[in-house]
Amino acid sequence: MQKVDLQNEVKNGTVLPLMEEFYTIQGEGFHTGTAAYFIRVGGCDVGCHWCDVKESWDAELHPPTAIEEIVVRASEKAKLAVVTGGEPLTWNMDALTLALKKAGMIVNMETSGAYELSGTWDWICLSPKKTKLPVKSVYDNAHELKVVIYNKHDFIFAEEQAALTNDQAILFLQPEWSKHEEVMPLIVDYVKENPQWRISLQTHKYLDIP
Ligand code: SF4
Repeated sequence: MQKVDLQNEVKNGTVLPLMEEFYTIQGEGFHTGTAAYFIRVGGCDVGCHWCDVKESWDAELHPPTAIEEIVVRASEKAKLAVVTGGEPLTWNMDALTLALKKAGMIVNMETSGAYELSGTWDWICLSPKKTKLPVKSVYDNAHELKVVIYNKHDFIFAEEQAALTNDQAILFLQPEWSKHEEVMPLIVDYVKENPQWRISLQTHKYLDIP
């Protein structure tokens, strides 16, 4: 494929830098425990210091892949697709989500919300990051707000983010994995005092599955 054609296809979202794809169990958030086909798209400039997929950041390291190929593999394996990254909204998600839906799949996304919303989603999990705050279109359309708690100051950030997110979104606090032993007791106390929040655990890490 010529370079100009490739640039156009990436721009319109029919080709995406694919980092990895795998069939597993959704480990965290509202859909915990559900079998899902994960599509991890490369590219992210949000820069979280505790990011556990730093390999995803440089989109150029990940092969430009036609979405038709991804959709065939996903729909052969699963009913639910979870598009994650990297930051999926770095790219135009319209074509991928449409094609997954045409193939009969439920289509969920995990996003930091740092870029304008594109795509048609059954479920948007917004996990905001301090380094690049979400845009309004994602606050307005998120089904779930999942705030990672790294230290006690993050509870203030969580409340600020909840105030900006639509009223229907389900609120989760999730311990950052490397700090979970330290912050878990704080989260338990916080949720008991503020029961509009729920706890999300990265169960896949406890179970050692991808
Ligand atoms: Fe990593 Fe996600 Fe933060 Fe990007 S937004 S740096 S992929 S944790």
